[in-house]
Amino acid sequence: MCQTGGTEGAKEMAEKLESEGFNITTVIVPEEVCDNRVMKKDARNIEEELQHTDAILTLSCGLGVASITEVLSNKFPLIPVFVGTNTEFMGMTERIGRFYMRCQGCGDCLLNETGGICPITTCAKALMNGPCGGMVEGMCEVGNYEKDCGWVLIYKRLKQLGRLDLFSKLREPRNWSESGHQREVVWR
Ligand code: SF4
Ligand code: SF4
Repeated sequence: MCQTGGTEGAKEMAEKLESEGFNITTVIVPEEVCDNRVMKKDARNIEEELQHTDAILTLSCGLGVASITEVLSNKFPLIPVFVGTNTEFMGMTERIGRFYMRCQGCGDCLLNETGGICPITTCAKALMNGPCGGMVEGMCEVGNYEKDCGWVLIYKRLKQLGRLDLFSKLREPRNWSESGHQREVVWR
């Protein structure tokens, strides 16, 4: 979807590397590279090729690198996995070529109070009680007034919903120390 890889992208990269003298042992396009179960199945299918592989290059996001590394760590611990992309964020797709960050997975969601618009990602300062003094005519000072102020968007949406009471509600400062540590979800 992001056109960083896929069948065509992988083929193009393989050809480029070959033209630079690398020997490509195999090229695969997993259905879901960040799903360990899928990767385990795909890895079984290319075990023979992996015996002769010095390094893996993935065109996925960072999750793909982590997944491949974990899946291969027992049988092929010495094969390094390199990333060929720079993961910017997990985005909402407006259309191919237009992606927007709308959630950072902060673990303390307050969308129910903000009309479904995330202040962490739409407010440049991730404020809890905006808009701040840097808002001018609905635009944000960060980035030279080119982007909408997230809190104005939230205000407009809550007004539309008849829930401006939520806008006036004072929200406590956020405990950011909770968002930096390693997180996991294990429920079975
Ligand atoms: S508040 Fe924003 S960043 Fe946090 S979980 Fe909700 S949408 Fe995601
Ligand atoms: S102008 Fe709006 S979006 Fe920009 S930092 Fe202030 S409250 Fe956040």
